[in-house]
Amino acid sequence: MATKIILPEAELPTHWYNIVPDLPSPPPPVLHPGTHEPVGPDDLAPLFPMDLILQEVSTDSYIEIPEEIREVYRTWRPSPLYRAHGLEKLIGGPARIYYKYEGVSPVGSHKPNTAVAQAYYNAKAGVKKLSTETGAGQWGSALAFACSLFGIECEVYQVRASYDQKPYRKALIETFGATIHPSPSPNTNYGRAVLESDPDTPGSLGIAISEAVEVAATNEDVKYSLGSVLSHVLMHQTVIGEEALKQLAMVDEKPDVVIGCAGGGSNFAGLAFPFVREKLAGTMDPVIRAVEPAAAPSLTRGSYQFDFGDTGQMTPLVKMHTLGHPFVPEPIHAGGLRYHGMAPLVSHLQELGLIESNSLHQTETFAKAVDFAQAEGIIPGPEPTHAVAEAMNEAERAKEAGEEKVVLFNLSGHGHFDMAAYQAYFDGHLVDYEHPQHQIDEAMQKVPVVAGE
Ligand SMILES: *Cc1c(COP(=O)(O)O)cnc(C)c1O
Repeated sequence: MATKIILPEAELPTHWYNIVPDLPSPPPPVLHPGTHEPVGPDDLAPLFPMDLILQEVSTDSYIEIPEEIREVYRTWRPSPLYRAHGLEKLIGGPARIYYKYEGVSPVGSHKPNTAVAQAYYNAKAGVKKLSTETGAGQWGSALAFACSLFGIECEVYQVRASYDQKPYRKALIETFGATIHPSPSPNTNYGRAVLESDPDTPGSLGIAISEAVEVAATNEDVKYSLGSVLSHVLMHQTVIGEEALKQLAMVDEKPDVVIGCAGGGSNFAGLAFPFVREKLAGTMDPVIRAVEPAAAPSLTRGSYQFDFGDTGQMTPLVKMHTLGHPFVPEPIHAGGLRYHGMAPLVSHLQELGLIESNSLHQTETFAKAVDFAQAEGIIPGPEPTHAVAEAMNEAERAKEAGEEKVVLFNLSGHGHFDMAAYQAYFDGHLVDYEHPQHQIDEAMQKVPVVAGE
């Protein structure tokens, strides 16, 4: 079994890390969807409170974490780092494997690290209600939990297919006092339009984002909240990597490989960005790799260009690796990884050659996750099965090469609400999807052309 490397509570990070000032070139600007001119803080004010907008565009390297947020973090942070002795024994090779476990949070994933921060700043700004989307339900539960702490209402639009498949996530969201609607819904203009043209649609994250944005944009006291992709969200997650750096130092280790699964990019960035900082400073030289599903391969097969964050074309344009905003993914079980784009910062880092990416099929990731669960006693969520599998492949390659590698990965959440996915795997019902090139080409034709790009 694993051994736990516990960081004392006094070592809880005091600051979030902003990677932007450390990069050799700044990330491209965010563009207005109509004019294609760079947006300023005021353009974003209908959707977000000013504190978060200023974090989104900040060029400070560190932003102090308010004590009210640290107080909540302390109920489960610092999260444990585990040395995977059980897994190492199973592989039987020289690799030393470590994982940071974010499943210890109240809703079982890394997402409360930013949900708590976002609810805090919105409450501070006098916002009465937050609207948001959720895929598999992890983000909806995290924001519902955070809103209940700070006394604001929360309205969640959940992708229809997941709403029907995952009744326990809905109950969890309602337990924290939020309201939840299947998306597309009759509540919004955009939802009604989609339902009219396709009444049986399973929905998508892109559609649910359009609905949640519409609710915030058309109601004075409602703001919008996003669980991934945006730079301030990635920054809130850097507590993961800052803690992991200290925990590895406690056992005198430096990683050779750092791995995270990537949907919108937030748990990957949260672990990886502090290690990128160290790599840029020359204190260590790990390979840093994002792993995504072959069914939603934005980093590995998408093109790097300006696109909308949502299907309804309401969000600003961001430069990212995208499969095209009309993308409706196959119903793979890693619901949190079914997004058409990738965080602009993660995309930019890949362009700069600071990180790399790989894609895997779900039958492989579930097979490896089952081995992992038996060796380590933790059942990974469907999303981090991708990180687990990549780390195990890395350790196997080290064994073949006879190399003593140190592998670190982010176990972003547990799978206790996703046992139907494991059951489907055991019953032989999991199917591998390779996202077809002609569908990427078709979706990309709808992506706007930005002059000079
Ligand atoms: C949402 C989620 C993901 C994917 O989102 P990222 O922003 O890419 O991290 C991964 N793992 C878990 C457990 C999630 O809940």
